Amino acid sequence: MKLDRSVRLLQRAERVIPGGVNSPVRSFRAVEDSPPFIARGEGPYLYDVDGNRFIDYVLSWGPLVLGHAHPEVAGALKDAVDRGTSYGAPTELEVKMAEKIVGMVPSVEVIRMVNSGTEATMSALRLARGFTGRDKIIKFDGCYHGHVDSLLVQAGSGATTLGMPDSPGVSKAVAATTITAPFNDIEAVRTIFAEEGEEIAAVILEPVAGNMGVIPPVPGFLEGLREITTAYGALLIFDEVMTGFRVALGGAQELYGVTPDLTCLGKVIGGGLPVGAYGGRRDLMEQVSPSGAVYQAGTLSGNPLAMTAGYVTLDIISREGVFDSIVERATALSEGIKNNLAKLGLDLPMAQVGTMFGFFFAGSPVRNYQEAMGSDTKRFAAYFSEMLKRGIYLAPSQFEAGFMSSAHRVDDVEDTVRANFEALKSIL
Ligand code: PMP
Repeated sequence: MKLDRSVRLLQRAERVIPGGVNSPVRSFRAVEDSPPFIARGEGPYLYDVDGNRFIDYVLSWGPLVLGHAHPEVAGALKDAVDRGTSYGAPTELEVKMAEKIVGMVPSVEVIRMVNSGTEATMSALRLARGFTGRDKIIKFDGCYHGHVDSLLVQAGSGATTLGMPDSPGVSKAVAATTITAPFNDIEAVRTIFAEEGEEIAAVILEPVAGNMGVIPPVPGFLEGLREITTAYGALLIFDEVMTGFRVALGGAQELYGVTPDLTCLGKVIGGGLPVGAYGGRRDLMEQVSPSGAVYQAGTLSGNPLAMTAGYVTLDIISREGVFDSIVERATALSEGIKNNLAKLGLDLPMAQVGTMFGFFFAGSPVRNYQEAMGSDTKRFAAYFSEMLKRGIYLAPSQFEAGFMSSAHRVDDVEDTVRANFEALKSIL
């Protein structure tokens, strides 16, 4: 595989953009490789500037549930552009979009559009703090919620350890309001609440973790969080930026039957344009400005192009059979990979929830960050590179999810399963 033009572009990019990229994982540093620079996307494929074609399982990190440049989405966008790109004034489309999401996501009665997942979680936390009058929050090791200061906090060691900033620039005062706990460990959460429950505004989590690889919640974990937060008057926030319209049409809350107080959304709801949203119980959301005192605003929020791409995407995936067929294809791929692993005598933990999937180069089981960290990342890097050579574009990190789209056909999945077998075999 030739990457000459991409390599030259990366050199140019590194002179004017930090690390040559506008978001860190794109740099391929975790796999010690050089990223293809993309020229265009079509259906399930990415084409780079050197003329290589890849079957894409990153899908812009989740949003493109219909694949690249879906004709209906692209057509609607072309029409929308001619009507103007932004008004900074209310539109009917925003009402339709809000009604659509309210109709699909169980916890959402009222919703506010923002421009990214980060903005969604940041705003949801402010609302939780404003509503409860409390400052502390609990997050889980290995869950990612965007680059909000108070959420850029990882594990210290142990469940009740007060957070340390993961990034320089996060003030100690902010980090000190974040308490971290191990994912899937309800007893750790119970202990934290027993000690300081009256000071905790909210528990925020990815209900299916997708930012440390794919880790589903163990039975009872989400239910336990619901029960504990209710008992202490803290809010339960599901960050469904990734899982929304991916693990089920109504998100993880529908799949597992646990209803949070607030939900953060992003990715799919923008159909590939920059969108986030937060919503939930009416009494909470009515605290948001201008109906309430918790301030939050945005010049481009509810942008007509973003709403167009998002609305058409949600409309298409809610048509009879569309979402189920994407899940079916994800299942076919997961089964294919599992068969390959078995044939090669590899006992590696694999997870698939709806249209998200992934496996770890680690021992079983992987239920939390610490276990995920036991993965052999060198081996992952070798596997990743063998897959890329075979035209399969995976996220360049062991700790990211794979995504399926409605554009992936049976042949694409078969090609991928074949490549997976050869790639695994070559690195044994
Ligand atoms: N929450 C989750 C669960 C995410 O996966 C991400 C992004 N990967 C975010 C929040 C942040 O979203 P954004 O990158 O749009 O700010």
